[in-house]
Amino acid sequence: MNYRVLGRTGLRVSEIGLGCEYLAKMDGGAIQKILDAAIAAGVNYFDLFSPEPHVRDAFGQGMRGRREKFILQAHLCSAWVDGQYKRVREMGQVEAAFQDLMSRLDTGYIDVGMIHFIDQQEDFDAVFQGPVIEFARKQKNAGRIRHLGLSTHNPRIAIQAVKTGLIDVIMFSVNPAYDILPPSEDINVLFDKGSYDAPDVLSCTDPERRELYSLCESQGVALTVMKPFGGGALLNETASPFGAAMTVAQCLHYCLTRPAVATVLPGAATVEELREAVGYCGLSPEEKDYSALLSGCPAHPFTDRCMYCGHCAPCTAGIDIAVVNKYADLAEIQGTVPETVREHYGDLSAKAGDCVACGQCEARCPFGVKVIAHMKRAKEIFGA
Ligand code: SF4
Ligand code: SF4
Repeated sequence: MNYRVLGRTGLRVSEIGLGCEYLAKMDGGAIQKILDAAIAAGVNYFDLFSPEPHVRDAFGQGMRGRREKFILQAHLCSAWVDGQYKRVREMGQVEAAFQDLMSRLDTGYIDVGMIHFIDQQEDFDAVFQGPVIEFARKQKNAGRIRHLGLSTHNPRIAIQAVKTGLIDVIMFSVNPAYDILPPSEDINVLFDKGSYDAPDVLSCTDPERRELYSLCESQGVALTVMKPFGGGALLNETASPFGAAMTVAQCLHYCLTRPAVATVLPGAATVEELREAVGYCGLSPEEKDYSALLSGCPAHPFTDRCMYCGHCAPCTAGIDIAVVNKYADLAEIQGTVPETVREHYGDLSAKAGDCVACGQCEARCPFGVKVIAHMKRAKEIFGA
């Protein structure tokens, strides 16, 4: 397993974490098996949005005696009401759901307290100008929540959340299909294949999503990824808006090569599915590579823009071209060079200015990126 730093929280998290979307359908014993297999594989980051009592109880049992092995992203405002899941904002229900969470987990703290599922502007305003955010801050001040997070599918909401300065972690839906769509308050747009019926309009990453990735990277806000397979559609040639199936590894690699992403949280219905996801870490670069597929897919080809895939390596001058392009894009979108990005760039052993314009990388880039020009741009931005 590989590990990354969860932004400014400083926590060291596994690149592949575990989402809990399938756990509600399992009994406690089956959930324990998934948790045990995850821990054995080196997974240490877990999402728990599910309010089902037996799922929370299973996590509590799973953590008993080994709390330090779990970095838990658990959700506020996700409640079990009248025997079913409900997203709540009414304070009586918010407080009761949190008490239930802490008591069933049988722990003194949760690592990341996620404010659950805000996609609409009105909801965002109500949460951040009302008692919910105050409640979350109070729990943080009391040490019951160590860091605050928010889950959303809408980049416009995520950007606003980052700008409050209160949110350290955003759980966001990332995959190449969602990345080409403009923001929406309606999650169903993401899941509707008809949303992708405009091939001339939809290509490359939507500007507001690029802005989100850049902002998170510059502010040290970590992204934890949900829906890496687009609800399974990307794994299926017929259902995928690209007209071609991706592999599990390609989807995970796409997410992990986006700026600010610290961990991907695929769900697992079985131990075998979990093993397939964590197996990503042992695969070769060729097995993870999504570049040929996305650049050559029949609909919505990604071209002209660096996708940070690394397919152009090795560089004659030893430049990590994907990383240099990523830092240059971050600086360009921000309109300034964030200090953290400047530091990271300074740490690179070969800089854009080392490019000898041999052109070998351009011949290998499936997205048609003019790498030599990009290296010149990066040298201008960073001065080296
Ligand atoms: S320049 Fe091309 S091959 Fe290299 S990382 Fe960017 S998109 Fe991939
Ligand atoms: S053109 Fe520049 S960036 Fe590309 S391989 Fe040659 S030296 Fe490296």
